[in-house]
Amino acid sequence: MTQTYSPIAGLHHVTAISGPAQANLDFYTRTLRTRLIKRTVNFDAPEMYHLYYGTEDARPGSVLTFFNREDDTRGRAGEGAAQAFAYAVTPEALADWRAELGGTRFTRFGAEGLALTDPHGQAFELIADPDAGPWGEFHSATLWLADPAPTADILTGVFGYEYIGEERGTGGTRQRYALPGTAPGRILDLWRADTPVAARPGPGTIHHIAFRARDAGHQMALREVLLARGERVTEVKDRQYFKAIYFREPGGVLFEIATDGPGFATDESMAHLGESLQLPPQHEPRRAELEARLPTLDV
Ligand code: ZN
Repeated sequence: MTQTYSPIAGLHHVTAISGPAQANLDFYTRTLRTRLIKRTVNFDAPEMYHLYYGTEDARPGSVLTFFNREDDTRGRAGEGAAQAFAYAVTPEALADWRAELGGTRFTRFGAEGLALTDPHGQAFELIADPDAGPWGEFHSATLWLADPAPTADILTGVFGYEYIGEERGTGGTRQRYALPGTAPGRILDLWRADTPVAARPGPGTIHHIAFRARDAGHQMALREVLLARGERVTEVKDRQYFKAIYFREPGGVLFEIATDGPGFATDESMAHLGESLQLPPQHEPRRAELEARLPTLDV
């Protein structure tokens, strides 16, 4: 297939579900020392926080967001969902993090890594990369699939990924795909476990992963190609900090394609990201009520 549009650049953000917001905030800002870059609500369910973390400059490819549920009834990773996200770190930093956090060491496609879980059971990894950028940029994400083939077809046929190889891991097989270029989060691993496990959404699981479109035109071109393939893609949704389209890929994982712009310094300045609750225009009239309902956070 001849592509008349550019490939995806890499991951834009990963959105997971956490338990109570304060423990989530403490872990990602105090323990992992990423920056709280946005404090808002779930636009589709504004009674819950939506906290965003990332690099100091809040760049796409570093953005990790959580729908923060005060009810911590855990979900379960399994087929049809993303299983883990991974940060890129230099080999020296990996050793420092291991001394600080513990975790389980692994080697994957020749790189050392550390497997960890956050306070609500979300699996994440630190993977050594000599070319790692600023702390907080993604290395990769892992999708857990019953059959990787149809997902791989979207990745290579539409998004511009290339097949890198396959590796046997503990309890399953991992296929690696990567995008050209040097953008963060340009690796995607497709994991197939030997024993089927169905995913159950809830705290400790990933809700969706978002890929980067350069701009609205790029996003629209990708949307047209996906629609022509029969994928059920949503209309463009205004997520305040980016424009987004969504579809459930054939393996069951919710995919989003998000634009780089306008970015996170739209409703507050870069110096003050995350310091106060930001509401989109549709929820601003409910500010007093929502602020009263949402738990107070010690930021
Ligand atoms: Zn998203």
